[in-house]
Amino acid sequence: MRQKLMDFMRGRNGTDQLSMCMMWAACILVFIDMFVRSNILSTIAFVTFAFAYFRVFSRNIGKRRDENTWFLNKTYKLRMWGRKERNHMTMRKTHHIYRCPECKQKIRIPKGKGKIEIRCPKCSARFIKNS
Ligand SMILES: [Zn+2]
Repeated sequence: MRQKLMDFMRGRNGTDQLSMCMMWAACILVFIDMFVRSNILSTIAFVTFAFAYFRVFSRNIGKRRDENTWFLNKTYKLRMWGRKERNHMTMRKTHHIYRCPECKQKIRIPKGKGKIEIRCPKCSARFIKNS
């Protein structure tokens, strides 16, 4: 079975970021559709699913790769922002983020060290904060 699937997928595009994103989008549309019950919404969800699967099983890998690259370029800023926010969230548990009062440089301080003097790495200004 596994071998058959691998044979089937050989020479095909497979999943990439664009088709994954489309499947997620379609799932969200289906979810929303459960509450609002709109024909348009379920049609869009269906078409999105269909196109995502078409891309996964497509043999025109060059074209699909171009589409994916286009998609990645278009969403680059959004993805970087999302990654930054995610890092921020996990960091918040262990670190404080302070801004230097002089130059507004962001400074990351590990939590749980009590009152400490912080020296700004950029302008060498010193200030005292609770960590
Ligand atoms: Zn500074």
